[in-house]
Amino acid sequence: MLTDAHCHPCDLLFVLPNAEQERINILLHNGENGVIAAASAWNADDFAYNETLARNAEKDGQAPLFQCFGIHPQLPAIYSEKGKQFKDADLTASMEFLYSTAENKKINAVGEFGFDLFNDSFKETEKIQDKIFEAHLEAAINNGLPAVLHVRRAMHKIFLHAKNLCRCKAVIFHSWPGSYEEALSILKHGINAYFSFGNTILCNHKQAIRSCALLPSQRLLTETDTPFQPRRGEQFSNWKDLLPILETAAKLRTEAGNKIGVKDIELQIEANFKNIFSFSTL
Ligand SMILES: [Zn+2]
Repeated sequence: MLTDAHCHPCDLLFVLPNAEQERINILLHNGENGVIAAASAWNADDFAYNETLARNAEKDGQAPLFQCFGIHPQLPAIYSEKGKQFKDADLTASMEFLYSTAENKKINAVGEFGFDLFNDSFKETEKIQDKIFEAHLEAAINNGLPAVLHVRRAMHKIFLHAKNLCRCKAVIFHSWPGSYEEALSILKHGINAYFSFGNTILCNHKQAIRSCALLPSQRLLTETDTPFQPRRGEQFSNWKDLLPILETAAKLRTEAGNKIGVKDIELQIEANFKNIFSFSTL
């Protein structure tokens, strides 16, 4: 079965605001093709939207949609752009929501959270990003939940937090941004890490391609980051991208001497996904 380790189905509302039917078709696609997915939300409304999708999927006997919640590291900079300030009270409110959903067994992973130091406006928020990261990592550890990480130009910070990341049940690096060597080093540090690949491996992203070709297959995941990681020429990403991603992963590994067929890599990645989420099944 196809698996999507990181997506935001709630955000299809932004890219398809006036295309109700098209959006519904995409969302239903999850069930038709049997995609198991983990949906990430940044706020309570989005979380509720994803929860409704999950309930509908369950009612219709479709593949499960797992729930993740966390503050995206770009959020403080987005607040600044809008002339607002991300305050400690905003963090506290989100953490209260996170702990209550965890307590009520409504959540399967914490995230996405992490670090984004891609440009100056993100760098300006580094201190608050640190606070958000530490609070989320603690929540993942305290609740025995996997962490879903967004890391951009900030791999050094992952190594700074390696000791605590080792205490996490599992750590998913969404759209793995690092090198093959960095991935190996993360595993050597003892972090139960999984490296997730999406359309970047179809877009000539050299580090992602090399990592996807060479890492142990037990550490691989696939994702769409729906709707935020479109293929070239497309407006948004969605579950239809998973098969080409899987086919490309099989091809890259085979070319690198790690011969594997599409069906076999699909089964391995499904097993990896289930390893991560099995202990947090609703
Ligand atoms: Zn995302």
